[in-house]
Amino acid sequence: MAIQIWKKKRRGARFFKGPAGLSALMAGLEKDLSACMRCGVCQSACPLFRQTRREADVARGKLALLEGLAGHLFRDSRGVDERLDRCLLCGSCQAVCAGGVHVLAIFLKARAILAGYRRLSFVKKIIFRTMLARPGVFDKITAAAAKFQGVFLTGEDPETGSVSFKIPRSLSSQGRRIPPPARTPLRDSLPDLTRNPDNPGPRAVFFTGCLIDKIYPRVGHAAIQALLSREAAVLVPKNQGCCGIPALAAGEIGVFSDLVAHHVRLFSKQEFDFLITACATCAFAIQKLWPAMWPETDPEFRKRLERLSEKTLDISQFLVNVAGLEAPAGQGGGIRKKESAGQKIVTYHDPCHLAKSLGVRREPRELLRACPGYEFREMAAPDQCCGMGGSFNLSHYGLSSRIGAEKAEHIEAAECHVAASGCPACMIQISDMLSGKKAPDGSPIRVAHPVELYAEGLKD
Ligand code: SF4
Ligand code: SF4
Repeated sequence: MAIQIWKKKRRGARFFKGPAGLSALMAGLEKDLSACMRCGVCQSACPLFRQTRREADVARGKLALLEGLAGHLFRDSRGVDERLDRCLLCGSCQAVCAGGVHVLAIFLKARAILAGYRRLSFVKKIIFRTMLARPGVFDKITAAAAKFQGVFLTGEDPETGSVSFKIPRSLSSQGRRIPPPARTPLRDSLPDLTRNPDNPGPRAVFFTGCLIDKIYPRVGHAAIQALLSREAAVLVPKNQGCCGIPALAAGEIGVFSDLVAHHVRLFSKQEFDFLITACATCAFAIQKLWPAMWPETDPEFRKRLERLSEKTLDISQFLVNVAGLEAPAGQGGGIRKKESAGQKIVTYHDPCHLAKSLGVRREPRELLRACPGYEFREMAAPDQCCGMGGSFNLSHYGLSSRIGAEKAEHIEAAECHVAASGCPACMIQISDMLSGKKAPDGSPIRVAHPVELYAEGLKD
């Protein structure tokens, strides 16, 4: 019995084991690649090409490389891996592609083929297969790391609250600044995981996501507060894990599939109207990547998966489109405290996965316009990528910083007090890039999620 359950849980990993899984991926890839017309329009949108001007870095160059991938794998699998790794997976190319090429799905499948062919490093195997694939284990390890963060992180900067690495040397030498891991993750700080079940509004399951749970619990608390203020019944099921995108980006499609299966089973136990997340990348993963990259054809399971994807919304979509939040500030924005006299300027950075992959641009701005005490001001090129790109920031920090520096200049030029973004990963990058930059009143520019600013105005 136990073996059967384990096998069921590992359905994704089993599917991709061996040559059959790889050839299925390879066949799908060749079909997808044929859509590229080699027009080069993607050059104009690629944040990496903007810095390097190298054809090899843009989507067209990578797609050309992937033609005849099988041959390249035998000749120089490491070289192919390194070229594919130089990509933020931001989807900016896909958003402008007139040929409708599914660039991200192609890159992700190619990474899976490469990982299957070359095998993952020992460290990556431990991270993905032993930790990320098991939400309970991952939570315990990250909670212990947060408690002993003094061993590998410096103390908090008194002005910004950020920390930097003492070890490992590869991270400490770069001057990178990050927000400290939360000593109490979001899920551990919610004594009761179901809030106001008798509320008359929609039933909303809140998907916490790793970064909100472990780095920015305050964003999760704000989102839950905002949902409750719109009379939603809120459920936060235990044993949630990662949306799977870090595993998918590393080519670990088996772990990704296991995580998808885990969440579909977990959420199928609940009755609810919407699955809400405050993380742009989680929203993109659940809405688009879960159905697109799910390998099996079991029709009943696929139906459940697609239903879940369709119910998924970013918190700003829920508040504006479902709960009817209205701008301008203070009018129809829920039960609010009295507005303060001094308005602060807030600007907004569009996360690529929210704006370009899901088309969510209006809702976060409406949410910000509905925040009393804040005046919204658009920055230049608000949807230009911030340069984070998940593991891209770890492996290509120099390039990531060059891309991020432009974003920081645009934010500073907006003469704002707050830079808001609907993605915790973008928030980490923007905080780092803004180190040393000041608001017009000389204070550090605050980085926040739009829902945090909205929740500030709600009555306790
Ligand atoms: S990926 Fe799209 S935009 Fe880029 S060259 Fe191919 S068809 Fe043109
Ligand atoms: S996903 Fe982003 S970084 Fe990668 S090729 Fe496309 S535009 Fe460039």
